[in-house]
Amino acid sequence: MSSPILSIDLDAITDNWRALDGLSANQVETGAVVKANAYGLGVEQVARALAAAGVQQFFVAVATEGAALRKILGSGPTLNLFCGHLDGDTDLIRDHQMTPMLNSPEQLGRHLGLLPGHEFGVQLDTGMSRLGVQPSDWQEMRPTALAADPVLIMSHLACADEPGHPMNRQQLERFHDLTDGLTISRSLSATGGILLEAEYHFDLTRPGIGIYGGLPFADALQTVNLSVPVIQIRELQKGASVGYGNTWIAKEKTRVATIAVGYADGILRSLSSGAKLYHENTPCPLIGRVSMDLITVDITHLRDVPTSLDLLCAEQDVDQLATAAGTIGYEILTSLGPRYERRYKGHG
Ligand SMILES: *Cc1c(COP(=O)(O)O)cnc(C)c1O
Repeated sequence: MSSPILSIDLDAITDNWRALDGLSANQVETGAVVKANAYGLGVEQVARALAAAGVQQFFVAVATEGAALRKILGSGPTLNLFCGHLDGDTDLIRDHQMTPMLNSPEQLGRHLGLLPGHEFGVQLDTGMSRLGVQPSDWQEMRPTALAADPVLIMSHLACADEPGHPMNRQQLERFHDLTDGLTISRSLSATGGILLEAEYHFDLTRPGIGIYGGLPFADALQTVNLSVPVIQIRELQKGASVGYGNTWIAKEKTRVATIAVGYADGILRSLSSGAKLYHENTPCPLIGRVSMDLITVDITHLRDVPTSLDLLCAEQDVDQLATAAGTIGYEILTSLGPRYERRYKGHG
């Protein structure tokens, strides 16, 4: 083994999707969010596996992702676009039959003007103040939008990973105010919302992170394993320093393993103090700073010299590594760079 290996378990991914699907009632459809290269895990393999498992509604962020996804999946599934119909994306949206979630009166005008009769949805801002039609604009554009037959009305929860947060109910009520009485399919919940009460589920859910094994879906199966070859070993005397800035100094004789991953591979520099790697189930502390392509690990306490060390494994999942880096599982996954050999197991 010469390059780091990111093993991705497609069966765990589809099992997680099925488990999330099972948390809402039978008549609620469960889609899948595969933006950002399926959260770093490889959209081609992941989307194929999810489609084979029965996903018919996919979501991506931007039109270029949608175009790539259409080539992967062919003409069957619906490809929804969170960013809507942006200036310059018309050809991609038409040629790859994407369904843009329109986010403003301007986008509605563009869509109806340039692609009349082409399927679309509407994304409403119910309080997150990020993306979506603002309630005041919705009143104004509602008759025009409804006359053109949107296929979906959606919104996004800001605090769904905190079940007790009052924002959840406020957004739910605002979503009802803006959409009750319509006969259009509605979607409010991503992973966090699926884990709230059934009244958050509406007609279609849009999980992302839970499919890939991350919190807030605590019951998720782990989907990734990251194993990195040791490329050099050295024996340090007391007082020797390790890495950029001499931030780590040996207090005694120390055996150090150098492994070939760094912040260019998504091993965030903030892991420089506190991260652990694993040799089987023995933790080995990362010492010194994370550099672009390399990190250094204290293996003095190991009986044998390992040929590789694990960053993501049974002992350390994505969220545990995220905690060590001061971030969230989403950022760890989507930062996993292009230099890994991605190996897929299972069929999904
Ligand atoms: C990313 C995203 C999702 C998926 O969210 P998860 O928390 O990963 O389940 C759903 N909806 C929108 C609008 C998003 O941006």
